[in-house]
Amino acid sequence: MNYKSKFGFGCMRLPQTDENNPTSIDQELFNEMVDIYMEKGFNYFDTSYAYHGGASETAMRKAIVERYPRESYQICDKMPTWALTSEKDNEKFVNEMLERLGIDYFDVFFIHNINTPWLKLAEEHNTFEYIKKMKEDGIAKKIGFSFHEKSALLKEVLDKYADLFDIVQLELNYLDWEDPSIESHKCYDLCVEHGLDVYVMEPLKGGVIVNPSEEIKKDFEEFNPDKSIASLAIRFCASLEHVKMVLCGMSKMEDMLDNCDTFENFEVLSDAESEFLEKMAQKLADSVAVPCSECGYCIKACPEMIPIPEYFHLYNTSKNQPESNIYRLYYDKLGDEKVPADECTYCSTCIEHCTQKIDIPEELEKVCEHFENGFSPYG
Ligand code: SF4
Ligand code: SF4
Repeated sequence: MNYKSKFGFGCMRLPQTDENNPTSIDQELFNEMVDIYMEKGFNYFDTSYAYHGGASETAMRKAIVERYPRESYQICDKMPTWALTSEKDNEKFVNEMLERLGIDYFDVFFIHNINTPWLKLAEEHNTFEYIKKMKEDGIAKKIGFSFHEKSALLKEVLDKYADLFDIVQLELNYLDWEDPSIESHKCYDLCVEHGLDVYVMEPLKGGVIVNPSEEIKKDFEEFNPDKSIASLAIRFCASLEHVKMVLCGMSKMEDMLDNCDTFENFEVLSDAESEFLEKMAQKLADSVAVPCSECGYCIKACPEMIPIPEYFHLYNTSKNQPESNIYRLYYDKLGDEKVPADECTYCSTCIEHCTQKIDIPEELEKVCEHFENGFSPYG
C-alpha cells in the first residue's frame, strides 16, 4: 500500500500573522510549507468555503494554483451547507469557490458537515443532486460529504445516498475510535460496508491529543522517546486499510516537517503501539475537562458570538496545569477583547451544532466558576 499518498495538507488551521484574526494568513510561511510538502512528493490540499473566513481558499490560490501546474496537485473544497437558502445557492457558492481558488474543477468536492439540521437544508435545496451533476459534468472528479455525527445518522444517509458518493470524510482518531459520543469505529465500518473510501479529519482531535497533561506526556516519552505524540496518532489513522487520506492541519513549520517524516518513513502501527494508544485514550479521556476539538461550528450558531472553543481551550489547559495562574489572566483578557463567557443566555442553539456533542452552556458555566470563584489569580 502507498502510505505516502495518504498525507493530506488540511488548510483549516494555517499559520497566521495575528492570532486574533483568522483571515491574517502568513502567506510567506504558508508558501514555504507548500514548497517543502510538494518537493517531498505530497500533493493533496483540503479547504472549505468557511476556513479562515474564506481566506484559506485565496491563500491556496496564491501558494499553490498560481505557482504549480494544475495536474501536480489535488484540491478538495466543501459546500457551506449551513448557508444554503435556495437551490440556486449551490451554483452560486461553487462558482465563488472556483473563483477564489482560481481553478476550473475540484479534484474532490464535499457537502460540508452533514448533521441533522444541515442534512435537511441539503435535501431541501437539492444539494445531493447538484453535486452528482458536478461529477457528471467534470467539475468534481470525486464527491462525498464530511461527517462528525454518530453512526445512526450515517447509516440513514448512506442507506439513501451511498451510491452517489466515492468518499466519506470522518472525524477519526484513537481517542474517538470507541467513544460512544463520536463512534468513529462504527462509522468507519459503515463506510467500508458501503464500499466507500474514508478520508480522515481531526487525527489529533483539534490538538487535544498533542496537548495532554504532563503525566501523559511522560508516558509517551517513556514508551518511545524518538516518536512524537502526533506521529503515533497519525499512524493510527493511516494504518487503517480503507483510510485513503489523513488530513493534517499544520500551523507551524515544525509540525509539517514532523508529519513529512511520519509519512516518508511510514510504519504500520504495531500491536504494542495499538495497545499503548488504547490505554492512553482512556487516560486522556479521563483527564480532558471538555473534549472540544476547536472546530468552531458553535460560534457560527451562537447569537451572542461567544468565542466558545477559546474558553474551553483555556479551561482545559488550566485544569491540566493547576499550579499556573496565568490562564485566569488570559481568561480576563479574552472577555475584554471578545464576549465574556458569562454572557451565555442558555438559549441552547449551539448544542445541535457541536461536533463533539458537548453540552456547551453547562460547560461554559463550569468555565466561569473555575476562573471566577475557585481559582485565585494570586495563588
Ligand atoms: S447557549 Fe450560550 S453559548 Fe450556546 S448559543 Fe446560546 S448563548 Fe451562545
Ligand atoms: S464546542 Fe463543539 S462545536 Fe464548538 S468548537 Fe468545540 S467541538 Fe466544535
